[in-house]
Formats: sequence, structure tokens, C-alpha cells
Amino acid sequence: MAVTTTAAGALARHLEPAALKRFLRYARVDTQAREGRPSPSSPGQVRLGRRLVQELQALGLRDAQQDAHGIVTATLPATVDGAPTIGLLAHLDTSPQAPGNVKPRLIRGYDGSAIRFPADPSLSLDPAEDEELSGCVGHDLVFSQGDTLLGADDKAGVAAIVAAVEHLAHHPELPRPTLRLAFTPDEEIASGVEHLDPTTFGAEAAYTLDGGGAGIVEAESFSADKAVLRVRGRSAHPGMAGAQLVNALRVAARFVALIDLPTPETTRGREGFVHPYHIQGTEELAEVTLILRSFEERELREQEARLRALAAEAARSEPRASYELVVTPQYRNMAETLRRFPWVVDRAVEAIRRAGLEPRFGLIRGGTDGSILSNRGLPCPNLSSGQHRIHSTREWLCARELGQAAEVVVHLVAIWAAG
Ligand SMILES: [Zn+2]
Repeated sequence: MAVTTTAAGALARHLEPAALKRFLRYARVDTQAREGRPSPSSPGQVRLGRRLVQELQALGLRDAQQDAHGIVTATLPATVDGAPTIGLLAHLDTSPQAPGNVKPRLIRGYDGSAIRFPADPSLSLDPAEDEELSGCVGHDLVFSQGDTLLGADDKAGVAAIVAAVEHLAHHPELPRPTLRLAFTPDEEIASGVEHLDPTTFGAEAAYTLDGGGAGIVEAESFSADKAVLRVRGRSAHPGMAGAQLVNALRVAARFVALIDLPTPETTRGREGFVHPYHIQGTEELAEVTLILRSFEERELREQEARLRALAAEAARSEPRASYELVVTPQYRNMAETLRRFPWVVDRAVEAIRRAGLEPRFGLIRGGTDGSILSNRGLPCPNLSSGQHRIHSTREWLCARELGQAAEVVVHLVAIWAAG
């Protein structure tokens, strides 16, 4: 995206080298989340957390600590009285969707040519087809070698927060409220932040730095449910099955084939979808797992009703089979909470303006730690951190946008200090 240069942008340029140095260091620690394991799901996350505790203590945040769940918390004390405590969060883990073990590759002063990847010659990025990339010509960019993701999601967020905190710690003359930091494991498998208790954390409002580009505020996320259809049949020797066999697998497959709701492949923007993503079973017992997603709670209910009707229809093909469809809530659109605290978003918008950027609003077609925290009463929108093409081997980071993310934090803190 266009990087505006103003007097305000001078702070971004000042913070950029320190933030970039931190990012390159954090990116090398393999913190890939492991699906199906309890949090912290991989030892690298604990290792990175331990290192952050040391770095934060070195910056004077004496209470910096890592708990049994791998969550790192620390406090930067206020320099003004009476302002509400503000939280800043980023996640330690990287996505399991592309290989980890990252060797970051820094390109200084990007010249606008096509990006090639040493570990995979078939991979490239063409600025002519990528407005975000062409918008970052002239800046320092970071890529992977092409055989791993980069992990800017979300080590960019971690680096921007620590760089901003370093600046604030060195400038006690700048007004600030008490800042509470949290670096959480396993955001990508939605199991880390559940161990962070908003009451003990003690912030009145918080921000995650886990967004793309620069100057974007995300205050809306999906509302999400999970559904499991379980079909019971009866097995019998197929050679002598006669009227004995009741094949649960056929009913499950029929159910999937009947689903006529919008899918992830065909939806974007504000559109919701239903996504069957796992099927397993035998003739005896078959199971289909699906996710339901929408920005509107009402549409989630409609999706559920439709799935129930389709399950009944599929079951009619084999009346001797029995089935149940169990729907469980996962998280709710953070907008439901943020609407009650509009100033939390307004202040982020003002901070982005002060950094010389034109604020934009984004939608999260997923959930974040911020959705979960907002659902638990801590309003927590998401802010940009310079990441692009996340969860892929072509993931990249713009160092200027990383500096801008740190600058936005410095302004945001000053705005909250003013009460
Ligand atoms: Zn993330």
C-alpha cells in the first residue's frame, strides 16, 4: 500500500531499523503451532517466549514472565495518573499451513522487479499483479527462501510492539497509561489465548497487532460455529449382508453432496459460508465435520437450519440409520462487543492519522485472539503490522510498514494517556 511520507512518518523511519532487527531475530525461531496438541503446542514457542522475557526485563519491564501455558506478560508502568490500562497483544506461533524453520531473506531498497525464491525456482511474485508489493518499492522487504512461510504472521506484531515499548521506555517524558503486554502461543490453532484471563491481565481495552499492510483497523470478525454430523449404521459381512447392512458412510457422503450453501471458494467480503472439511468413518459409524461462518448471527442460525434439513433428507435415503447433528459455538463477531466501546476503535483511527496514514477498515474473514477476548468482555480490535500473503511460502513483510505499526502504537498510547 502507499506509504505516505509526512513529518509524522519520521518516527516510523526512526523505529524501523530496531523493529526489523528484532523481526529477523524472532523469525529464525521455529514456532510453528502443532494441530491437535495442547498449548503450548511446540517447544519453539516456549523458547521465543523465554527470550522475550529476557529482552523485556532488559528494557526495564521487571515483572516480565512466562506462565505454565507459555503466555508472556509484562507491564510498562504509566507516566501519567488516572488513565485506563491498555493491552497490546501479538502471537508467538506461526501457521501450520506451510513449512516452518525459517531463514529470512532481506532485500534492501526493493527495486520493483519480480521476486524470485532460491529454494523454489517455480515460485515468483510479480509486482505488476500485486498492488501491495508495487506499493512497497524503495523499502526493505523480507521474504522466506521459498520453501517455508516467513512468519511475519505474527512475529511482525511482536517486533512492532517490543520496538514501540523500547522507544517508550527510553522516553519517560512521553505521556502514557499503564501498558500491559501479552505474547500468546497457538493463535493459529485457536487454543492459546483461552488461558489468558482478562481480569488478571487487567486492561480496559486492548489491541492485537496481527493485520496486513499499514493503517488498517479490523473491528469485525466472523461469528463461527462448528457442526458434526454423526451417522450410525450396522456392519455386516458384505458377502452375506443381505438386508443386514446399513451403510452409514453412504448417508454421510449423501449429506455432503446435498449441501447447497455458499462455500469458502465462492465467497468474499461480507459473505458467509459453510465448509465441510473432514469426513471419516465406516459403514458402522461415519462423521462429517463442518464449520459455519458469517458476520451475522442470524445467518449462522439459517445455515444451521439448512444443515439440519439436509441431514434429515440424507437420512431418509436409509431409514434404518440413525444420526445426530451437533452444533457448537466457536466465537462471535468482535463487533458485537466493540459497538459498546466505540472509542476503542476511534482512538486507533486517530493514532493511524497521526502516523500520516489514511485509516482504512478491514474485515477479518476468520477469528483472532481479539475476537475471543472481545467475546470475553475485553474490547480488542486488530491493527496492521506489515504482513502480506500470510500462511504461504510467498509470505513477505515490508519493513517501513513495520516501523509504521510501531509508530501507531506510540501515538495510540499518547491518545489514551490524554484520557
Ligand atoms: Zn496471525
